[in-house]
Amino acid sequence: MAERISRRIQTLMPALANQIAAGEVIERPSSVVKELLENAIDAGATQLTIRIEQGGTTLIEIIDNGFGIHPEDLPLAVMRHATSKVRSSEELSAIQSLGFRGEALASVAAVSRLTLSSSQTDDGIGYQIELHGAALERERASAIAMNRGTHVRVQDLFFNVPARRKFLKRIATEYQHIEEIVRRMALTHFDIHFVLEHNDHIRLNLPVADSGELRYQRVLQLLGRQFAENAYWIDAEANGMHLAGWLGHPSDARAQADMQYIYVNGLKKKKKKKKKKKKKAYDGILHGHQHSAYLLFLEIDPHEIDVNVHPTKHEIRFLNQREVHEFVRHFARDTLSQFQTASADLSVA
Ligand code: ADP
Ligand code: MG
Repeated sequence: MAERISRRIQTLMPALANQIAAGEVIERPSSVVKELLENAIDAGATQLTIRIEQGGTTLIEIIDNGFGIHPEDLPLAVMRHATSKVRSSEELSAIQSLGFRGEALASVAAVSRLTLSSSQTDDGIGYQIELHGAALERERASAIAMNRGTHVRVQDLFFNVPARRKFLKRIATEYQHIEEIVRRMALTHFDIHFVLEHNDHIRLNLPVADSGELRYQRVLQLLGRQFAENAYWIDAEANGMHLAGWLGHPSDARAQADMQYIYVNGLKKKKKKKKKKKKKAYDGILHGHQHSAYLLFLEIDPHEIDVNVHPTKHEIRFLNQREVHEFVRHFARDTLSQFQTASADLSVA
């Protein structure tokens, strides 16, 4: 102990610093999936294949058809604080992308064996780098055959972090977390075809939903028949804000806390405070404290929100919190009271 206290101060070796910082972003396999999906979506992908083995502990593989990474940028992509998404603090104040910290790939690389391949061309040629716990296996990227897009392979997650590995749950549990991430993404990105495979079985196959009917099919597949058939579609605009989505029928309140989704500007933000407000809107109608299911999309001027609160972006801050809450609550309540009238009408008939 005495020896420890008397030690001189040193800067951490980059590899160790990365491993420590990775702990904040990469908690479990599903965190990797979330970060990689966000990158693919930021790259404009319309086709996403997610291959998982053993709940993501041995393999997480994501193949996208986005705009790819320049071959010379491949080593940069896995460096901390290296990003193509933000260049100035002006840009930081109106983030349009899901990522912007330039931390995800560096973090994943620090705690896994990572293979990153990408192509920006249509000549069938791409470039690939391999890392082993953030250390590059070779100096130069090697040429490989691949279609335009990016292919990320993450093997043996936490192989060099036994403490984190110990905390992983059963394979089925880790897989469930991953599927939940994919479901959430699929609920906000109807323009993307998602395929999710676990141990060589296709678990989700969600074609591009570019019509009302296909959207309905996706909601049906992801949130269930009960919700899809009875939910009420709302679409409202006021004070430069736009709210659209499905509100579950109050009679369908089966304590579905896991079916409450609110997305701000297409970014999948889980807004806890908003959730509370939403429950309030249901209050007078539900006579209890059941939760109702909902899937809502709020569009607001990006200058009005701060996404830079937490690395995982589960939380965001609204500049004008009260106004936003009032807006959401007003329309939710309006819609719910229509439900009530509708059911009353039915019971009379
Ligand atoms: P961030 O997303 O915050 O910029 P990341 O570490 O997740 O940081 O990624 C670093 C950079 O690598 C990104 O800014 C982007 O330029 C590039 N990149 C990562 N994944 C992809 C992808 N799937 N397609 C295209 N570019 C990607
Ligand atoms: Mg990212």
